[in-house]
Amino acid sequence: MSWIEKKCVEKGLRMTEQRRVIADVLSQSDDHPDAEEVYARAEKIDPKISLATVYRTLRLFGETGIIETHDFRDGRARYEAADNDHHDHLIDVTTGDVIEFVDEEIERLQERIAEKLGYELVDHRLELYGKPKKPN
Ligand SMILES: [Zn+2]
Repeated sequence: MSWIEKKCVEKGLRMTEQRRVIADVLSQSDDHPDAEEVYARAEKIDPKISLATVYRTLRLFGETGIIETHDFRDGRARYEAADNDHHDHLIDVTTGDVIEFVDEEIERLQERIAEKLGYELVDHRLELYGKPKKPN
């Protein structure tokens, strides 16, 4: 059973065959697919699946916190399972590539800022947008 499917069961979501297919697709994706990409991958497993079902299921998974929804400013919502360890994203504006990273210094800095403002940090989201540096 995939992590997402396990999570669905925990949260009491009814698992239809098509939801299971979409859960599998997302569990196996290590990139950040949009709905159309999820649909393309799901359709290979179950040709009867519809884009509307994919959208509905993604919304459901998103609302229950099983997947994270990202907006990388290209007009397409992107999805990833919420199981992997916390990381931030750098988006290559020339190719649209998404690079995942973790930086301890940034993590600490954010906590310090929240603290200074009188808050305990519970979550954060950071996106960097960049273009490759030209070699010197
Ligand atoms: Zn990511």
